[in-house]
Parts: sequence; structure tokens; C-alpha cells
Amino acid sequence: MPPTKEERREALKAVYHQAKGCTSCPQLAATRTTVVFGNGNADADLMFVGEAPGANEDRQGLPFVGQAGKLLDTLLGEIGLSRPDVFVANVLKCRPPGNRDPHPAEIEACQEYLLRQVELIEPRVICTLGNFATKLLRGDPTGITRLHGREEVRAIGRRAVRLYPIFHPAAALYTPANVEVLRADFARLPELLALDLPPQPEPALEAAAVPDAGEDGPVAVREAEAEAGSPAEDERYAVEAERNAEAEAEADERDAEVDERELEPAAVQLGLF
Ligand code: URA
Repeated sequence: MPPTKEERREALKAVYHQAKGCTSCPQLAATRTTVVFGNGNADADLMFVGEAPGANEDRQGLPFVGQAGKLLDTLLGEIGLSRPDVFVANVLKCRPPGNRDPHPAEIEACQEYLLRQVELIEPRVICTLGNFATKLLRGDPTGITRLHGREEVRAIGRRAVRLYPIFHPAAALYTPANVEVLRADFARLPELLALDLPPQPEPALEAAAVPDAGEDGPVAVREAEAEAGSPAEDERYAVEAERNAEAEAEADERDAEVDERELEPAAVQLGLF
């Protein structure tokens, strides 16, 4: 039986709890103020994926709250949507210091969170904002200048979606002519959202139930997948599981130092609608 909307939302909250204690990228974990998991409608048809939190996002714990976020809101408004209608996430959940580019190892370490978000939110359309998200989700180095405004059906983890690369709003702000290109690409979103859901891949046996991410999380999903893999793969996943267990233990310690923010329910911290 496919999971209900409520089950998916609960599982998303559990993934958020796991992400907020993540230490997979030691430099990012040491320099971040908050983990910016993403926010919006946990059952959104439209999901945006940006690059990584900036200084404002790091402070507030929410994605796209600076100038680029204002442009995103304006363009959403022009097609009759607002933040509570969509889910907004990033390739990296932690701010790279000095707003440097994400490192490949960081993208690799963080991608499971994004895949889980896609799997649990079940969007129909994923709009990648700029090069990092586009290259990651297409698994291909082709840049945004060639790809923007061209939708294609892609399997993202276990979800088939219409992937729609567009310019990053921050990049458009640097080059005002690109704001109009972005606006024109945005204008096609309602049409893409009205298309049929692309045929979905057959669920893997292990994927049939939503894993309880509170207990297991992304690593458990990978472990289940690794069961069919080579011994070397098994070992890699075992090491990751161990690292994750350590991270969880550290997170538990941190959680013990309860502050006001930690007392808020996850849905509020997440800005889940
Ligand atoms: N730029 C991004 O890519 N993501 C944010 O959350 C903010 C700015």
C-alpha cells in the first residue's frame, strides 16, 4: 500500500531531525548556524532545488529568504503561486563558508537528503535553480545556459518527475536581462504542472514501505539497496552507517542542550504547510 500523505509528512519530519544533527561534512557542520533543510508544502506538486544556503538562510534556518528569495516569491506570485504551495530545498543543507561553491564531496554526502525529500514529497515537477542542482539531478555536466526552459522526464531516486532547469534567481539578479529569461521560463510552469504525472518506476521491494527515518533514515535505505550489492559496497555502506550512528549520538548530545528553538515542533521549524 502506498504511504498516505500524513505518513510521508511524518517521515519527512524524521528526515529533518536526522539532517539537523548531520556531521558528514566536518567543515560545514563546524561553521553553520543552522541546517537549512528546506520548507514549504510537504505534499507539493512543484519543488524548487537551489544550490546552498547563504548567510541569511543560515541565520534563519529557511531557504531563499534573501534577495534571491524575494525574486523567487515575485515570480511565483506572477504565476498565481506562493511559498505554501511549493517546497523549496537546496543541494546542500548547510552554508558553505564565505558562500564558496559546494565541494563535490559535500554534494555527494548531502544528496541522500534531497533524494529522500523528493521521494517523500512526491512532486510532479522539479525546478532546478542554476547549475549545481541541474547537474546533480540530471547526472550530467551540461550547464544551465544550454538547458534552461527545457523540461524532460527524469527518474530522481524512485520518483519520475518533469525536471525543469531554470536560471538561479541570484544569477539573474547579477544580469538583469536574465530576469526576463527567468520570468519567461517561470511562465511555463502552470502548463507543466497540468501535464499527466509521468509513469512511475516499479517500487523496489525494500521501498514498498516508507522507512521510519527517525530510526533508520537515508542510510537505512542505502543499506537496503546495498544488500544486493558487492562486498565492497556493503563495506562502504557499513562505514557510512557507523559514521551516521556517531553523528546521531552527537546530535542526541546536542539535543540534550535544549533551547527554545528546539522545543518548537518540527513542522514549525520546517515551515511545513
Ligand atoms: N541561494 C540558494 O541557492 N539557496 C538558498 O537557499 C539561498 C540562496
